[in-house]
Amino acid sequence: MTTMTATQATLEIDQSRLWDALMVMAEIGKTERGGSGRLTLTELDKQARQLFIRWCEEIGCTVTVDRIGNLFARREGKRPDLEPIAFGSHLDTQPKGGRFDGVLGVLAGLEVLRTLHEHDIVTERPLLLVNWTNEEGSRFAPAMVASGVYAGEFTHDYILSRTDRDGVTFAEALRKIGFEGDAAIGEPSFARFFELHIEQGPVLEEEALDIGVVTGVQGMRWYDITFTGQAVHAGTTPLSYRNDALCAASRLIDSLTQHALTHDPDAKVTFGELTIPSSSRNVAPGEVRLTVDLRHTSTEKLDALEIAYFDKLAEAGETYGVMIDQTCIWDSPVVAFNDDNIASVEASAKAHGFGYKKMMSGAGHDAVYISKIKPTSMIFVPCLKGISHNEAEYSSPEQCAKGAQVLCDVVVEHANRV
Ligand SMILES: [Zn+2]
Repeated sequence: MTTMTATQATLEIDQSRLWDALMVMAEIGKTERGGSGRLTLTELDKQARQLFIRWCEEIGCTVTVDRIGNLFARREGKRPDLEPIAFGSHLDTQPKGGRFDGVLGVLAGLEVLRTLHEHDIVTERPLLLVNWTNEEGSRFAPAMVASGVYAGEFTHDYILSRTDRDGVTFAEALRKIGFEGDAAIGEPSFARFFELHIEQGPVLEEEALDIGVVTGVQGMRWYDITFTGQAVHAGTTPLSYRNDALCAASRLIDSLTQHALTHDPDAKVTFGELTIPSSSRNVAPGEVRLTVDLRHTSTEKLDALEIAYFDKLAEAGETYGVMIDQTCIWDSPVVAFNDDNIASVEASAKAHGFGYKKMMSGAGHDAVYISKIKPTSMIFVPCLKGISHNEAEYSSPEQCAKGAQVLCDVVVEHANRV
């Protein structure tokens, strides 16, 4: 599909075979508007897993399943004693999700294995294609939990006890679809990990680039706040006598957003959920609940943003005479990916003449947890208007293929390093 320098022979992936695999997989749980709805550990997820296993076994791979349903397809190397090079992503989707989020990383991995199989090439190290269970977290919170258990971030018991909206536990759902495997948590082991994923943001498309060489993941901090004032009559209570919880919340939303806009263009501040319990049009709200999501690519600047948040929050409470109760519910540190992996991804993109840039991921991925135990990095490809977690999610066959080609290069390069 591309020209390479004479010194580097290219093993070319097959764009149309990759696209066909994506479209066949998308039939499982196809939604009305052309997306995919394959919640984790459902009958549809089971079908997707069975198809994945069939495709891997057809080309001579051996698939093992661990105790929490993670799937590992192994292609033997010349040196079975060496740790494999791993790559993959997730086949589960949001309830009304797209055809590419996660699925591309798994099926591009399959395309790498098919390409090697077709050319009868055996790498030195074995290869390991992974489908991580429940990346999305939309049925069983939190997200990325199975790669988290694999990496030792959560316990086995913790994941088994998570429940969905209907009170079904992860353990029950896993057994129901028959994917509680024999492999111990943390098995099989591997030497390093690569994850190809759609960007889920607009930057690559805006800048007309092919590849994001992902150097790390933004840090994130989540807060839940309750503002408590006094619910009062809209007609009889003068403004100067009020302790309006919604006014305090509004003050925080606007003042912190303005602060970030003027002080730090890279800061991200989001107030995604606002609840006014027992709201009424003629009552000034006595209680308001608000969620805050702070993100930054630099730990130092994330700290500074958090201090600004504390200041603005206190000021909002004082201004309106409202009590504040806040809890930090998630603190995900800034992640730096492995330099050696990053250099390989960049070298491949450059060798093919693909437009690329180094960038941080704004979203969490399985690679975040895996990066804590193994050298890891990610490859991004553009997606239309940055739309994701949406049925309209789209990356073109060419865009997918370029990402798969880079994945193929880096996997083969590292699999031949002994
Ligand atoms: Zn994903």
